[in-house]
Amino acid sequence: MPLTKAEAALLTRRTGMAVEDFTWRNNGILTLLNDANTRACVFLLTDSADVHAEGMCSVYEVRPQGCRTYPNVLNHKDEVILDDGCPHKSQFPEPTEDDAIVLLNLEEQLLREG
Ligand code: SF4
Repeated sequence: MPLTKAEAALLTRRTGMAVEDFTWRNNGILTLLNDANTRACVFLLTDSADVHAEGMCSVYEVRPQGCRTYPNVLNHKDEVILDDGCPHKSQFPEPTEDDAIVLLNLEEQLLREG
């Protein structure tokens, strides 16, 4: 999941972790790291390596905007869609034009910072 520098700073303040301990650069974009054992986000509380394993977000109140808007994602044409990788996709409404604007603004900020 991508995140902005401000979101990373907030997570550092909340968790005490260094930014390098929970992020990596994916094509220059700051991105949440996956735990080597669970293969899930380092902030997901789970002990399973199953990609569909249940878990709780340990930073839920300060999770990045991309987490808040998921499973809305942009496809390669910058259209907003529900992520095919989300096992709960059918429980979400089709994204709207407003959802697209939110994600396009986030993408622009991430690219600016990258
Ligand atoms: S919602 Fe929480 S556990 Fe899930 S990707 Fe975001 S920060 Fe990680």
